[in-house]
Amino acid sequence: MSVSLSVCLTVCLSHCPSAGGGSRGRSWKWKEMLRFPHISQCADLAMNIERDYHSLCVKQPIGKKLFQLFCRSRPDLQNYISLLDALVISFWIVLKKHGEYAGLGFDHFQRKRHLVVCIQSLELDPCADVFNDCREDLHKHLSGEPFIQYQDSMFFDRFLQWKKLERQPISKQLFRQYRLLGKGGFGEVWACQVRATGMMYACKKLEKTHVKKRRGEAMALNEKEILEGLNSRFVVNLAYAYETKHFLCMVLTMMSGGDLRFHIYNVGEPGLHRDRVCFYAAEVCCGLIHLHQKSILYRDLKPENILLDDNGNIRISDLGLAVRLTEGKPVRGRVGTLGYMAPEVIGHEHYGMSADWWGLGCLIYEMTAGQPPFRSRGEHPKALEMEHRIQKQQEEYNHKFSPEVKDLCSLLLTKDPKQRLGCQGLKGREVQSHSFFENIDFRMLEAGLVKPPFKPDPRLVYCSDVHDIEEFSSVKGVTLDQKDNNFYSKFNTGSIPITWQNEMIETGCFRELNIFGPAGTRTPDLDW
Ligand code: ADP
Ligand code: MG
Ligand code: MG
Repeated sequence: MSVSLSVCLTVCLSHCPSAGGGSRGRSWKWKEMLRFPHISQCADLAMNIERDYHSLCVKQPIGKKLFQLFCRSRPDLQNYISLLDALVISFWIVLKKHGEYAGLGFDHFQRKRHLVVCIQSLELDPCADVFNDCREDLHKHLSGEPFIQYQDSMFFDRFLQWKKLERQPISKQLFRQYRLLGKGGFGEVWACQVRATGMMYACKKLEKTHVKKRRGEAMALNEKEILEGLNSRFVVNLAYAYETKHFLCMVLTMMSGGDLRFHIYNVGEPGLHRDRVCFYAAEVCCGLIHLHQKSILYRDLKPENILLDDNGNIRISDLGLAVRLTEGKPVRGRVGTLGYMAPEVIGHEHYGMSADWWGLGCLIYEMTAGQPPFRSRGEHPKALEMEHRIQKQQEEYNHKFSPEVKDLCSLLLTKDPKQRLGCQGLKGREVQSHSFFENIDFRMLEAGLVKPPFKPDPRLVYCSDVHDIEEFSSVKGVTLDQKDNNFYSKFNTGSIPITWQNEMIETGCFRELNIFGPAGTRTPDLDW
């Protein structure tokens, strides 16, 4: 039953204004900032935009909304979109509504066959996505004639107008800057707010001279390019990438609850309660699975890099060391933070996703024990000694470890990557099936519907005092030239479509601005 509930609630929530929504923090000039260009100014975009149904009507949040509005405006398509909704709502509701739909005449939609298949697959695997075939069939139909007609409608014109806004050049004037959140290798991270929508983000500013001096160009670009291809609730999202005279800026999901390192060591006794260990481990596991599905190996799993948001959900952050495996081919390179590196990474061997499952083992160990697996608190062994312990020594488990968590850690901390849990070709699903996660409903978790066991207190700041964060000084004697500009232009690509569109929806700007002219005229930008 939890299967249906999870999907059902997703739909309910997606219709509610988000907690971060409302008009708080918007500039009084916000409507001017988001004024639609006249449709005649969208001609170039109309010519060049790729006419791909999946991207335009399924993947992009505003595109999806406008396509649905189009379908709802057409009596012959309304039923398809209702059915698509019902599929999301749940298998059970589809079953219940079966009778209602039966009379509506879906000539080429073979609902009976689909329903039988749904029942069979549910019986085989209660967690399976039983709607897949059904949904695919619907999309197949909608991507034909309806998609062609959509592109000739005012709804698609409106989509182009939104798209034009999305592609506006980004500069620092678009944001208000608030407090310093942290310091990284190439610069600082600041809280910021989009003036037009009121959305809060974290802006990671890389100082150009620092990047050049320490040859960090490839790393910075790598992080930006990997982040822009991702969209997961368990990994920080990139919303904008832009440059100023002195900085390269990545605007990221705001994570105001501090990092796991702070929570493990700076709040009460070292270590976390079992419920929190289980919840964070499960979310990190989902994040890793998402990255691995995109062929991305993260390589830097450690408590500092796991950040909490104000609700108490976590996201993986800092993807500077992540790497895309081409055609799944393993890589080499001693990359990461020594205490958390897998034996095969230390040993200069080729490695794949196994390194991240080792990292998850270290993380679960550290959250439970209040110290990392191969080093006691306050101890600073030499690098060689650390390498030896990681490659040869058996980690110890004290009374804080229940039999389940001990079993999970020792399976993830298996020295031989071939024997390690997570590396059996099941894409990490075997980790989720471990008995430690018995009480986690991963479908609910992936839909964002599990209440976190701990909610950060909004009055507290879960990080070092701002005054303790060392000041960042610029490097003298480094001059920037044309070659640097080439690199900056690759970095400076502006808004990231999916995150930008979600921002418009979540802050309510989409709802307030997406008004059409009288009787659906084609110049729908005069309403305010
Ligand atoms: P680096 O790659 O240079 O290590 P990080 O991405 O780890 O930089 O960021 C440095 C610090 O900034 C982090 O340790 C954290 O305190 C803070 N920080 C980074 N990203 C965010 C975010 N999305 N929300 C809030 N704070 C962040
Ligand atoms: Mg970092
Ligand atoms: Mg980094």
